[in-house]
Amino acid sequence: MSVDINVSQTKENKANTDILIIGGGMVGLSLAFQIAKKYPDLSIKILDKEKGLGFHNSGRNSGVLHAGIYYEPSSLKAKVCVEGSRRLKEWCLSEGLEVLLCGKIIVTQNENQDKQLNLLFERGRKNGASVELIDQKDLKNFSPYVYNATQKLIWSPNTCVVDPKSVLNKLAEKLVEMGVEIIYGANIFKIDSYENKINYSINLNTESCSYGHLFNCCGVNTDLIAKKFGIAKEYIILPFKGIYWKLKDSSSLSFNTNIYPVPDLNLPFLGVHITPNLNGEVYFGPTAIPAFGKENYYGFNGFDPLLTGQFIANLTMQWLKNSNGFRKYSYEQGLNGLKPFFLKAAQAIVPTLKNEDLIKSSKVGIRAQLFDNKKKELVQDFKLIHGENSTHVLNAISPAFTASFALADLIIKKSKIFD
Ligand SMILES: Cc1cc2nc3c(=O)[nH]c(=O)nc-3n(C[C@H](O)[C@H](O)[C@H](O)COP(=O)(O)OP(=O)(O)OC[C@H]3O[C@@H](n4cnc5c(N)ncnc54)[C@H](O)[C@@H]3O)c2cc1C
Repeated sequence: MSVDINVSQTKENKANTDILIIGGGMVGLSLAFQIAKKYPDLSIKILDKEKGLGFHNSGRNSGVLHAGIYYEPSSLKAKVCVEGSRRLKEWCLSEGLEVLLCGKIIVTQNENQDKQLNLLFERGRKNGASVELIDQKDLKNFSPYVYNATQKLIWSPNTCVVDPKSVLNKLAEKLVEMGVEIIYGANIFKIDSYENKINYSINLNTESCSYGHLFNCCGVNTDLIAKKFGIAKEYIILPFKGIYWKLKDSSSLSFNTNIYPVPDLNLPFLGVHITPNLNGEVYFGPTAIPAFGKENYYGFNGFDPLLTGQFIANLTMQWLKNSNGFRKYSYEQGLNGLKPFFLKAAQAIVPTLKNEDLIKSSKVGIRAQLFDNKKKELVQDFKLIHGENSTHVLNAISPAFTASFALADLIIKKSKIFD
């Protein structure tokens, strides 16, 4: 297929690559995959700073392919989640990757959540998700251990679980077969957006690459890269840490479906939930607590004093303004990093859960949560910002993994380079 696009025609000197993607997480890989499928004549390069795949968000998440229930129908999340989930699930199955077809229930924690449950149900229907309101008496068919405070709960039959790292590995394998170049350990130190050129070091060598169009898919660092292009100045990414606890093998409890609480829809977090995985393990979590750095996974590793200062200032501002009911977040979720608070949140779903049922897991992820410094609020939806020859994918928080194939198509469309 010959495609008439402007990416490789913009420079007098032909670019080293038509498409340069920085960040080889699920968003960057999916973008490369969809471009390579549609435009096989284009050269595509992916640069990632790590030595391999899945070091950050995409390799550290719950692996849940969301059904598309939560999101406001007008949002980008709503536009891509249902289709993205279906496509990724079908692709995984076609590639021989395991998919746990376990569905999900959403339960209420107090009697006043009826309205919220109905709102979720309506949102799900509007978004095209398969969603059912079922009776309290049917809850026991899903789990005898779970509490639901109202007469109804939500059943989502299409929610499923994959192994995120297997998905990344398979996608990268396919990309290489399609001729996409993936360069690991590429530490970017200079971007000349006027020259459409990027400089990076690998080991001790300095390399450079000129491009027709650049896609910035750097997860938690997307804001920093975007600022090198002089854009997204009003935004900063605040890292929220997701810690998981694992159900002990010795526990008398067992779960074989996803169990989520009705979340606070003012916030971009879904609340502590229960997720079975493909190995028969059950995880509780993740938390959504402030991290002390963008890669502060454990202890003080990756501690970033400047960012932590900004984070505390922004959170304090949110608390004082109580924007999006932020005080409720601080009381209900902000302290969940401590086991007694976490246990209490988990017991709201499973009242008989005991301290000794849970063991700390090494699984931990950090959300790339965008904060709007002008509006002084957390951004809920995905945010695409376009530079002259660049597109920046900000706020690729959940469900960006689920939605990645459809999100990639949306990014391609909005970047307008193939018009
Ligand atoms: C705890 C947790 C649980 C979640 N659960 C789910 C879930 O169940 N379902 C779901 O759909 N979503 C979930 N998400 C969200 C999901 O993981 C993300 O939306 C998705 O993985 C984002 O992908 P990404 O490619 O944007 O980011 P990443 O996977 O973080 O990839 C970014 C890549 O950019 C690279 N990079 C960063 N800076 C640079 C640089 N300067 N130069 C070069 N490379 C760079 C990094 O090395 C990394 O490989 C969860 C997230 C968290 C944190």
